[in-house]
Amino acid sequence: MSETPLLSVRGLRKHFPITGGVLAREVARVHAVDGVSFDIAEGETLGLVGESGCGKSTTGRCILRLIEPSGGEVLFRGQDVTRLDRKALRALRRDMQIIFQDPFASLNPRHTVGGIIGEALEIHNLGKNRAEREARIVELLETVGLRPDHMRRFPHEFSGGQRQRIGIARALAVEPRLIICDEPVSALDVSIQAQVINLLEDLQERFNLTYLFIAHDLSVVEHISDRVAVMYLGRVMEIAPSRELYDNPRHPYTEALLSAVPIPDPRIKRKRIMLQGDVPSPINPPTGCHFHPRCPIAEKHCSQEAPSLRETSPGHWVSCHVRG
Ligand code: SF4
Repeated sequence: MSETPLLSVRGLRKHFPITGGVLAREVARVHAVDGVSFDIAEGETLGLVGESGCGKSTTGRCILRLIEPSGGEVLFRGQDVTRLDRKALRALRRDMQIIFQDPFASLNPRHTVGGIIGEALEIHNLGKNRAEREARIVELLETVGLRPDHMRRFPHEFSGGQRQRIGIARALAVEPRLIICDEPVSALDVSIQAQVINLLEDLQERFNLTYLFIAHDLSVVEHISDRVAVMYLGRVMEIAPSRELYDNPRHPYTEALLSAVPIPDPRIKRKRIMLQGDVPSPINPPTGCHFHPRCPIAEKHCSQEAPSLRETSPGHWVSCHVRG
């Protein structure tokens, strides 16, 4: 992992209790995030990929403490976010922002675009007066490719791609260091996806931003990510530099995910790996390696002992008894 991380996530866990009966006693637990660790260096993009329900969005929300983690550490510039009181957390939120998958649901429909972005400025006391804040809103709109007069309009007057640009402008308003991009293009048309990804790349270069880019599709994160982490049932299965992961996947789950990604060059054929069964429930995850019931190369001890992430070559980490 990188040497000077802006963000270090260590053994992060989020277990949701399920209650039942008249006394609402805990009857089971959803192991949404089950011991996740990774680093992100300043200015880097880490792609976090996995199927729906694997815990990647919960991981993003736990990092920001939009939901409280059950355990583990989240170190931002060496400060443990999980231990901050309300006031300190609010100050830190200026440094860490989030862009959501559904920009429409995350934008207040009753507020104008100017009001939505202005609110972020007001919360953090940015801009001395209204005129200064308005000038900043105009600057932000232009930065994300929108027009100054858009500030007087309401979210429903915009297309999906434009709404995502508004979400990005709102996140940028407080000059964050880290932005958690939670499936920011999943709800958009393919042609618009590329525009939003290009915009995020430009902004990263311009403002030296650091991204955790969450997606369910490996092909989406390929170009924007410096490194990619693959999650399955609450755990990280593999982390590697982007090119290395695509060219030389080691974990059988990554291999299966990659085999489903279309290759633009028709001369290159890749054999599709069909995994058996469905993703098991995170309420009772399989013992040992969570992937063992579906793994084509599982061995006997895979169901008994959970593998840990091991570095198999420089920067390439794999959680597998056989390949690690
Ligand atoms: Fe498959 Fe075993 Fe490796 Fe898990 S530890 S991925 S079950 S070989």
